[in-house]
Amino acid sequence: MGKVIAIANQKGGVGKTTTAINLAASLAAAEVPTLLIDCDPQSNASSGLGFGKDPNRLSSYELLMGTAPASDVLQHTALEELQLIPASKNLIGANIELVMMERREYRLRDAIQVLKENFEFIVIDCPPALDLLTLNSLVAADSVLVPMQAEYFALEGVSELLDTVERIRESYNPELAVEGVVLTMFDDRTNLAQSVASELKSYFGERLCDTQIPRNVRLAEAPSHGKPALLYDPKSRGAESYIKLAKEVIQKHRNKAQHVAPEQMVQ
Ligand code: ADP
Ligand code: MG
Repeated sequence: MGKVIAIANQKGGVGKTTTAINLAASLAAAEVPTLLIDCDPQSNASSGLGFGKDPNRLSSYELLMGTAPASDVLQHTALEELQLIPASKNLIGANIELVMMERREYRLRDAIQVLKENFEFIVIDCPPALDLLTLNSLVAADSVLVPMQAEYFALEGVSELLDTVERIRESYNPELAVEGVVLTMFDDRTNLAQSVASELKSYFGERLCDTQIPRNVRLAEAPSHGKPALLYDPKSRGAESYIKLAKEVIQKHRNKAQHVAPEQMVQ
């Protein structure tokens, strides 16, 4: 059965979509069957893989509404082992439409159940909000991976997210684990970044991913070419860092390492 990893942080611009695209691509490049689900109405993960705006294309919106089965919304990508469920602008309305629906928090979980046998990993790119789309993603997920920048105030937002994870565990999805916190756009040449990183290490302990994602212009350029970094510039530091992160994620999954609950995260 595939492992579902939601990439979440209610703050925008922290590297969620970049992480979702490049982690999913790196898992696929390691010959691990992987599905990326774009759950953000902005559709950046879809366009970053070369899927421009096409109003007629089926998307995660139809999946959530139950108007198309999972098998009809899958798209093949340039990487053999990577498939995509793209997003669409219709998702903007989904937050309101979902409120009225039965099992509104479980729509995505129910819809992707049949896909879990076909993929070893299912990566979900969440919108920058703690809304019903993110809630559906976290209820569908086995774990949550939190990208964050090494800034002092970033910790407040992440604490709020971890409180939400705890509430979701209590109410909807007791199995939801914290995959880890990954530092993005990291600049290890500055003293500030290094001191924040060591403080985060003492706060998150084991949950802080060993891999840090450097600030790397190739990661920012690749989406405009519709490619993950490993196809755009495979030798770039950005591409290599996500390949390393994917190895960390695969190893953890295959070792079935113990996850810890958010309340145990403070050492
Ligand atoms: P989010 O999905 O959390 O809003 P994005 O992944 O879209 O964040 O990243 C925000 C912006 O920062 C984008 O323009 C992206 O290309 C850029 N970016 C993300 N990660 C990096 C990185 N490691 N190095 C350089 N630019 C990055
Ligand atoms: Mg995004």
